[in-house]
Amino acid sequence: MMAGLLFTRAGVSVRVLEKHADFFRDFRGDTVHPSTMEILDQLGMLGRFLDRPHERLDKAEIRVAGQDYTVGDLSHLRTPAPFIAMMPQWDFLDFLRDEAAAFPGFALEMAAEVTDFIEEGGRVAGVRLADGRQLRARKLVVMADGRSSLVRGRHLLPVTQIGAPMDVLWFHLPKADDHGESLRGAVGTGRMAVLIDRRTYWQAAFIIPKGTAEDVKARGIGWLRGEMQALFPELDLSGALGSADDLHLLSVALDRLDTWHRPGLLAIGDAAHAMSPIGGIGINLAIQDAVAAANILAGPLTRGQDPDPLLHKVQDRRLFPTRVIQAGQKLAQDSVIGAVLSGQPITRAPMILRVLDRFPLLRRIPGRIVGLGVRRERVRSPQRRSAKTRSPIPESSLRA
Ligand SMILES: Cc1cc2nc3c(=O)[nH]c(=O)nc-3n(C[C@H](O)[C@H](O)[C@H](O)COP(=O)(O)OP(=O)(O)OC[C@H]3O[C@@H](n4cnc5c(N)ncnc54)[C@H](O)[C@@H]3O)c2cc1C
Repeated sequence: MMAGLLFTRAGVSVRVLEKHADFFRDFRGDTVHPSTMEILDQLGMLGRFLDRPHERLDKAEIRVAGQDYTVGDLSHLRTPAPFIAMMPQWDFLDFLRDEAAAFPGFALEMAAEVTDFIEEGGRVAGVRLADGRQLRARKLVVMADGRSSLVRGRHLLPVTQIGAPMDVLWFHLPKADDHGESLRGAVGTGRMAVLIDRRTYWQAAFIIPKGTAEDVKARGIGWLRGEMQALFPELDLSGALGSADDLHLLSVALDRLDTWHRPGLLAIGDAAHAMSPIGGIGINLAIQDAVAAANILAGPLTRGQDPDPLLHKVQDRRLFPTRVIQAGQKLAQDSVIGAVLSGQPITRAPMILRVLDRFPLLRRIPGRIVGLGVRRERVRSPQRRSAKTRSPIPESSLRA
């Protein structure tokens, strides 16, 4: 959506294809970081974004063995929005859709599943849809179709696995009041979970060793309720979680494509590099890819240039931050999550968390890394089209 918005704004006609009928995806993360809000600020959209309902988080806190630690601080960042905005992913996507649709030349088709590519003369020249249609791309197909991208399924671009030791079970838990407080995380011996505040309920993520979802379900829902109660004794979970049908498995992946492009095609976001949920960085990294892609390609595309010789520049620009963040996620997976899931007794927090909790100035370092990332992008793609007056746009009028 962000790539669609930026290319359209720069004067390139764009058609976004989304296989689902809406953006409502329960059990997704919601962290919109300062790096993304900087981009929205550069686009003159930050005020409208912040007008939408969200919670603000400027500190990262985690409970280890029953004790709370503050381990990150974003409040001192020199940036227009020095906090994490917690906004459900579907609301954020609706926001981007409304902003993009205000530019002429933008088309969004919902319920439009891409099933294959049209290839001509060794070049990707368009896509085939599940309903039998073929859509030709005049210049470029951008694949931003997530971790199960068609470029992987069709073996169009080879992928290297980095691996993740965990999966996530998502479920809802009741909430006593509708007071917004955004996020809670807790770690105990052999167990680890995060709660995201959805105002009227908690969206809970319980971390399990990779591939063990069926074993966990076989232990019974009462076992899981007990684990959550042990992590969050302040919650009343007596009536929570009716059956194993209430649990949704999300398989965690950490990988990246060796090459993100081939003639006529560019992969960005999770399609190019599936991210682990650690740090809530994946959405924000995908946005940075979109900005880099538009910075490098929008101008040449509007001048009618062939984009193929430029595609490698997007990967060259974004590979370094991707590598750094994936290396950090792998380190956290192996040293913290792997250790917790192996059942090692957790009697107190690791030294690094205790140091961060003790010295507030040091907490700004993880705050900066997570909030602003590495090699952050600025919008440099030109604005060649002006937006119409914005009003919420009915989905039906967006279907081409
Ligand atoms: C459990 C879990 C929790 C996470 N929590 C967070 C978090 O809190 N914060 C964060 O920043 N990141 C989080 N992430 C990572 C984050 O979800 C991804 O990095 C991010 O969504 C990637 O964005 P994307 O646009 O590249 O892909 P996606 O968000 O996966 O979007 C791809 C889109 O393409 C559509 N699509 C797929 N195939 C087709 C097709 N064939 N035809 C048409 N459309 C198609 C999909 O329906 C989808 O809408 C989490 C990941 C996991 C697994």
